[in-house]
Amino acid sequence: MVSKLLEVENLRKYYPVTAGLLARHVADVKAVDGVSFFIAEGETLGLVGESGCGKSSLGRALLRLEEPTSGQIIYRENDITSWSKQQLKELRREAQMIFQDPQSSLDPRMTIGDSIGEALLIHGVGTEKERLERVAELLQRVGLEQGHATRYPHELSGGQKQRTGIARALAVNPKLIVADEPVSALDVSVQAQILNLITDLQRELSLAYLFIAHDLAVIGQVSNRIAVMYLGQIVELAGRDDLFHQPLHPYTQALLSAVLLPDPHQPWKRTPLPGEVPSPIDPPTGCRFHTRCPRVMPVCRQEMPELRQLDGNHLVACHLYD
Ligand code: SF4
Repeated sequence: MVSKLLEVENLRKYYPVTAGLLARHVADVKAVDGVSFFIAEGETLGLVGESGCGKSSLGRALLRLEEPTSGQIIYRENDITSWSKQQLKELRREAQMIFQDPQSSLDPRMTIGDSIGEALLIHGVGTEKERLERVAELLQRVGLEQGHATRYPHELSGGQKQRTGIARALAVNPKLIVADEPVSALDVSVQAQILNLITDLQRELSLAYLFIAHDLAVIGQVSNRIAVMYLGQIVELAGRDDLFHQPLHPYTQALLSAVLLPDPHQPWKRTPLPGEVPSPIDPPTGCRFHTRCPRVMPVCRQEMPELRQLDGNHLVACHLYD
């Protein structure tokens, strides 16, 4: 039986849009709109979708870095949705975040050693000597040299800064890490090294990840299961092999057709996605993908398909499978 580390029920994150001198509330950006899923202990759940689909908002809301508008977040059987600041401090020891842009997530005035040790200091972990030893251990673990401890962020390459970000996240021995596009700002050759580091750490430390990316090829390298997000909602969720070999949702099929290399034994057909992602302020009625879907039917414009379980653990939200 799967041991759930984190469970999300019907989560919403809306950002109010205001207008006029009185900042009247006129609409909402529905960044995350009714999302449910779980992350098991020690697994990587990949979260993929085009930019602007709500992936990062979901990641931040999960850790309560931003307040969810509604819904429930259960962490280790505790409902953390309404936890106080003090309780959230405890959560920060267990659940950490790695950011897309390692440059902006590091304080330019702090040395790399101080940046990594900061979380230990905040949580009152160990003596100063023990914290220094832990920083040295973390530097080594993420493939940095001891000499990096006294350097400043501007002296490091993009890959080294992201290694520092990973070391910071690991400092307090978390169980869950939300990695928000951790390799998309890096060169391709450095991406592979960081992805290897992330998967090695998971194996050694039994970490669970929510790994957010817009690139299915990257997601496929690290994930056990993959959730596909479109305009604030999850439209398909399946094991990695299931999703890659038998994508059901037309949006997933289009994403995959853009990344898979042609198989010499199979005709390869790219399915270009027409148009742009519609505005999350006023999403299309019915299925939100219907304005771009090559298989749209009349019912798709009227009724929103529910995320339903088909074979095994393969979930899809599409009227083709009603
Ligand atoms: Fe396409 Fe209809 Fe399925 Fe939406 S519900 S993905 S519009 S076929």
